[in-house]
Amino acid sequence: MKELSISALNQSLKNKDFTSVELTEYFLKRIKKYNKDLNAVITSFDEKALNSAKLADEKIATGAAPDLCGIPILHKDIFCTKGELTTCGSKMLANFVSPYNATVVENFEKSGLISLGKTNMDEFAMGSSNETSYFGVVKNPWALDCVPGGSSGGSAAAIAARLAPAATATDTGGSIRQPAALCGVTGIKPTYGSVSRWGMIAFASSLDQGGPIAKTSEDCAMLLKCMASFDHKDSTSIENKRPDYVSKLYQPIDGLKIGLPKEYFSEGLHPGTQEAVENAIEVLKGLGAKITEVSLPNSKLSVPAYYVIAPAEASANLSRYDGVKYGYRCKNPVDLEDLYVRTRSEGFGEEVQRRIMIGTYCLSSGYYDAYYKKAQLAKELIIQDFQTAFSDVDLIIGPTCPSPAFQHGTKSDNPVEMYLEDVYTIAVNLAGLPGMSIPCGLVSKKPVGMQIIGNYLEEPAMLQVAHQFQNVTDWHKAVPGNF
Ligand code: GLN
Repeated sequence: MKELSISALNQSLKNKDFTSVELTEYFLKRIKKYNKDLNAVITSFDEKALNSAKLADEKIATGAAPDLCGIPILHKDIFCTKGELTTCGSKMLANFVSPYNATVVENFEKSGLISLGKTNMDEFAMGSSNETSYFGVVKNPWALDCVPGGSSGGSAAAIAARLAPAATATDTGGSIRQPAALCGVTGIKPTYGSVSRWGMIAFASSLDQGGPIAKTSEDCAMLLKCMASFDHKDSTSIENKRPDYVSKLYQPIDGLKIGLPKEYFSEGLHPGTQEAVENAIEVLKGLGAKITEVSLPNSKLSVPAYYVIAPAEASANLSRYDGVKYGYRCKNPVDLEDLYVRTRSEGFGEEVQRRIMIGTYCLSSGYYDAYYKKAQLAKELIIQDFQTAFSDVDLIIGPTCPSPAFQHGTKSDNPVEMYLEDVYTIAVNLAGLPGMSIPCGLVSKKPVGMQIIGNYLEEPAMLQVAHQFQNVTDWHKAVPGNF
């Protein structure tokens, strides 16, 4: 069951080869057995999941069940799940039980998918290694001494170890694509505004976007179809109909124009990663894609611009955690200021506090023009670079990360080095574009990801290239030995 695709699972459930209860039990057992090695899942819904599976089986028996009904899925612990813990990887929310479902969770549950539990993540989605979670580090199933990437490392590790067929994740600067790359799974960050942010705990609202992590591009397309929707409760939700993510998958890519940004294949890229991505590009050439070089001259501005904009928005978003309304509250505050100061000093971890301080500083009067405004101008240049490139090519392809998974602890004392993990992913968020990562090789037995970037709402073309690549290669089928 663990190697079946979403469409195969869908078909098997409809054919009654097995029931949703059997499928759900199977994955709950895998979580029990393997999660202690990984720490990828921090809440498992056991009884509730089995009850939902029973209902799904009844719906399937009527012959009128929607697609994907009865398929179990994990949710990143950033998505609110009604009546269940939603911690965002933080002590601040370690006791928070959400009174409502995020729209994403609601969309999946309405279609009859089974919420299996919640995945570990970097605290408030800030990180690239899953070492900042209050609930402990997540281990990479390919090498337990290495990081799974972040911040959706729990989701990526869980799918790599086949603890569920799919998981939700979020990406503010790379957090779907980077862990997908380091764990050898497929993940897509859709165009900003495609997936509702309602009930998805805010980090940097102008950049945050939810998306799926699964084994294949086809799985991601089917999940995205269910996940993406217009939501009047999210003021930045795109009102137009979502593109058809699925039907283009099966068309050949002959003649498709792909641009390779020269800035993404330069200094700082691990030679093994470079070789794997170059080999993958040869495969695409073999499928008839036309490859040319493009330039994104302002891409060097993306990391510095992001580390002004994201902390600035985070400092505003996280001001709501004050110990008054919900979440952690310090013991015996002597007055209001003591309540605020101690609640926030005790409830937030070091990285979150660092971001709040940077963001507050950048937004303070006198510094606003020097930092925030300048970062917004850099963002405009980055957007223009992409639009210039897309006037020549259909898609842009490059590495997802500079190197394969690194060992725990090797970058956690050096925030700037950690921030550079997202050097190839961040520009996509600043521009609001869709980006995905698919497995394209192994270097020293650790996975490497290839990144595919599309113009606005061009997910169907990205998913198509990824699917055609996965049709003729086996990297997405590689499973870490012990799982
Ligand atoms: N690694 C980046 C950061 O630490 C991006 C995180 C994300 O996409 N949520 O902010």
